[in-house]
Amino acid sequence: MSEPWKADWLRRIPAIHLIISCPQLLEANRRYGRDRLVGVVQRHCRFLRTQVLSATHEEEMCLADFAIETICQQVVQMLAEDIQPRLRPVINATGILLHTNLGRAPLAQEAVSAVEQVASGYSNLELNLETGKRGKRYDHLRELLCQVTGAKAGLVVNNNAAAVLLVLSALAQGRQVIVSRGELVEIGGGFRIPDVLKQSGAQLVEVGTTNKTRISDYAKAITPETAILLKVHPSNYRIIGFTESVAREDLVRLGREKGIPVVEDLGSGLLLEQDASGYFFGEPTVQQVVRTGVDVVTCSGDKLLGGPQGGLIVGRLDLIDQIARHPLTRALRVDKLTIAALEATLQLYLDPEKVREKIPILRFINRKPEMIHQQAQTFVDELQRSQSELTVRLHPSTSQIGGGALPEVELPSWSVVLTPKEGSAQSLAESLRQGRIPVMGRIQEEALCLDMRTLSTEDVAELGKLIIEAISKFKSSEKGGSP
Ligand SMILES: *Cc1c(COP(=O)(O)O)cnc(C)c1O
Repeated sequence: MSEPWKADWLRRIPAIHLIISCPQLLEANRRYGRDRLVGVVQRHCRFLRTQVLSATHEEEMCLADFAIETICQQVVQMLAEDIQPRLRPVINATGILLHTNLGRAPLAQEAVSAVEQVASGYSNLELNLETGKRGKRYDHLRELLCQVTGAKAGLVVNNNAAAVLLVLSALAQGRQVIVSRGELVEIGGGFRIPDVLKQSGAQLVEVGTTNKTRISDYAKAITPETAILLKVHPSNYRIIGFTESVAREDLVRLGREKGIPVVEDLGSGLLLEQDASGYFFGEPTVQQVVRTGVDVVTCSGDKLLGGPQGGLIVGRLDLIDQIARHPLTRALRVDKLTIAALEATLQLYLDPEKVREKIPILRFINRKPEMIHQQAQTFVDELQRSQSELTVRLHPSTSQIGGGALPEVELPSWSVVLTPKEGSAQSLAESLRQGRIPVMGRIQEEALCLDMRTLSTEDVAELGKLIIEAISKFKSSEKGGSP
């Protein structure tokens, strides 16, 4: 270390044992325990040393305060922050409605209440209240699944990836599964159809080409070893141009003729028929697929269905029975919280009028740009009045469904666009991300864009405060301030 001022500043950092025995930290010591306290003090002192060592001029240290009282205060704050839950609510202003990083579909209030009721006490999870004998956890959902999807039987596992793995394991282990080359997809998170097939012990038989597959390709590939004709929904991509894929009806007809079950991995789990907005145009509903005669359909619970994470498996009674008896079912079983949330969510679909308003993801999709504009305009006016550090504008934007569903759909929306008068949009985004309630937006052309489509009235009220808080933190960090 060449500069003598650095040695000076390092000497000013109090010794760790002195900080720990400071009366100011007695309460923290009692509350969090000595080990935790020591850990945080060490971490903070390391941070202060780094601050000194990385400074290039002594002037950068002009705001640093190494007084033991200040350090104790900071330690208390760090300890309090350490016991905050790691998993916490975030405001999603990315404009992506089903964001896997942000927990996909928010639950309807009805689903939240159902979880709350079942979570805090005992329940009849595996008890038949009529007979007093042992029941099955899947019984609670079976009837409702059939009612909503029109299938003869249904089962729910942990997620759709699990559903596909289970169906293939139960119906095709050691045998062949025919899939079109245009449907050998990878869904986010490393879920690749060929890998799942291999894991299930089934043998993949690819037919057709990337852009064209005909029914004759399937027909020619059928052997006595064929267990399933598998159709996979191209959730997160589209092949456009010179293309041809086999209609579901034709595949079903071929399956019937040859006595081979047709299975479809549908992905998004749309249950809403005939949406007036037309945004679901082209996306098949689970009911439609079941009606067409597909023998087993799988889909996610937390995509367009708008429920908890889960994998729905619905279809023919004998096949669902066979699947339910497979040993993997036990390993992939859902807990009571999922069942409670899914039951409440599916029940909402029994009232087609109300479901669009009650299920958050459907409500967000249906929000009119004029309504979003109105809400955003009020917000922008207020924000302009209450601070002078940011340039605030309202700008048209497009929201997307996300979560690997309907990649080509663009929903016209409005964004609040923030440009800091000093400093970068990146550091503003970082301040907001690390705030009391993290806010996620997107950076575009040196500005931070906050798409307002998915924000509730409460979110908007918080957002104003969070921006003000972020500005003050951001200003002090520009001057090289706190940890
Ligand atoms: C999303 C998706 C999956 C994976 O579903 P998870 O519920 O995330 O496990 C599988 N297949 C398709 C076609 C999908 O769109």
